[in-house]
Amino acid sequence: MLFCPKCGGIQEVIKIHDSKNFEPRLCDVQCFKCDHIVYYQPYDFGKSLNLVSNDLLKKEDKKS
Ligand SMILES: [Zn+2]
Repeated sequence: MLFCPKCGGIQEVIKIHDSKNFEPRLCDVQCFKCDHIVYYQPYDFGKSLNLVSNDLLKKEDKKS
């Protein structure tokens, strides 16, 4: 859960950025209360980086 730096309200994920080189994904979040947007927040925060890398490897395999 992310909180707005302006008003302290709850922020919702509005966009997830694709990860390159197995780095943790980033996302844009927008505040429910004041619509303030914060770009490039860590999306995979708190999850295992190994799990994320494995997921991305599988997806890359399917694409190619
Ligand atoms: Zn806010």
